[in-house]
Amino acid sequence: MRLLIIDDEEDICDLIAEIGQRRGLEAKTITSAETVQQVLESFTPDVIMMDLMMPGIDGVELLRLLSAKAKDAKLCLISGSDARVLNSARRLGSAHGLNVIAALEKPLSIQTLNGFFDVVTSNGKEQDAQARAHAIASGEFRLYYQPVIELATRRVKGVEALARWQHPNRGVLLPSDFLDQVTNDGLMQALTDFVIKTSLLQAAEWHRKGERLTLAINVTASALLDLSLPDRISDLCEQHNVPPEMLVLEVTETEAMRDVTRTMDVLLRMRLRNIGVSIDDFGTGHSSLRELQRMPFSEMKIDQSFVTDMGKNKDCAVIVTSIIDLGHNLGLKVIAEGIEDQRVWDMLAEKGCDFGQGFLMGRPMAIENFTLWLDSWRKG
Ligand code: C2E
Ligand code: MG
Ligand code: MG
Repeated sequence: MRLLIIDDEEDICDLIAEIGQRRGLEAKTITSAETVQQVLESFTPDVIMMDLMMPGIDGVELLRLLSAKAKDAKLCLISGSDARVLNSARRLGSAHGLNVIAALEKPLSIQTLNGFFDVVTSNGKEQDAQARAHAIASGEFRLYYQPVIELATRRVKGVEALARWQHPNRGVLLPSDFLDQVTNDGLMQALTDFVIKTSLLQAAEWHRKGERLTLAINVTASALLDLSLPDRISDLCEQHNVPPEMLVLEVTETEAMRDVTRTMDVLLRMRLRNIGVSIDDFGTGHSSLRELQRMPFSEMKIDQSFVTDMGKNKDCAVIVTSIIDLGHNLGLKVIAEGIEDQRVWDMLAEKGCDFGQGFLMGRPMAIENFTLWLDSWRKG
């Protein structure tokens, strides 16, 4: 395997190269941005480790260049700035079609680098599946919480819980990095169980403190085939003294609902127990009008792809307006996802959209950060 290291700090290049070579990788280092293109003409790397902050070129430009010249390589981003910058760079890399497998914060320890090369050099799928099973069982998965706001009043309605994998060697991984694999491994139920238990404990703590927040969790269509789910959730609510109306299940991939009767059975029993049920990503190929008509949803979430651009794109604005009306006419509460600027908030509020969620108000946050965010939102 060929390893390319792009970093302006020479000692870091040397350290990574040495560890890589010990694992049998052929390493090449680049310390100045100008030579990247030229090196890629003659050297086809299997693995690239790149610093996002190189003098003379910005990380975004470098990602674009790599996507044109070295799309097949496994890419590891390195940066001295915080996890947030790394995470958006990771998303951007994936959007360019790059295979971003890790994002590491500086300073890099030898242990982290060894862990990274463990991942790179283990091509056994089985080992990966084992690692995922172990990660779910041993608590490497976390829930991040993103606020949901009532648009007319700025009141915090509640949160959506979003899964993150705090990988020991690869940093914080997003659902796009692991959901498909978790599904293929047959581990979705284990993940769903973890999400339900963890969020219920959180809901219990809020309830004890007199916090009136709803907590939404994401479940895939396959989870809804489990006829014991409503009872399991009810039992947990009772056990932890959580009022069921605090909970909302967000159903994604509704089109994958193969067994409609069974799914309807489960959803209806959720509703009869006062648990909310929301149709997620409404408007995309996965959530259709048919599902809306036959399933007992209490809320609808408009897919962010329409919301984010509605300030600039008339068609998006028309679609969003129509979806809001559709939802309201069916007696549903409507939540817009992907609000990134004030203009979009104002447009949605004017159109009567009930709730909103997006980076403008708050990103998904670890619980400590969410608690701080909640305080400052209420003060401001
Ligand atoms: P979702 O349920 O539609 O969640 C919203 C996604 O939009 C989140 O991505 C969130 O970070 C992102 N988002 C929120 N506001 C904005 C914004 O203003 N701009 C942009 N560009 N994005 C925004 P995330 O956390 O990466 O999750 C992706 C998807 O993975 C979720 O989409 C959900 O379908 C799935 N997912 C997340 N956690 C779980 C889980 O615990 N179980 C299951 N089954 N699926 C999950
Ligand atoms: Mg969701
Ligand atoms: Mg969504």
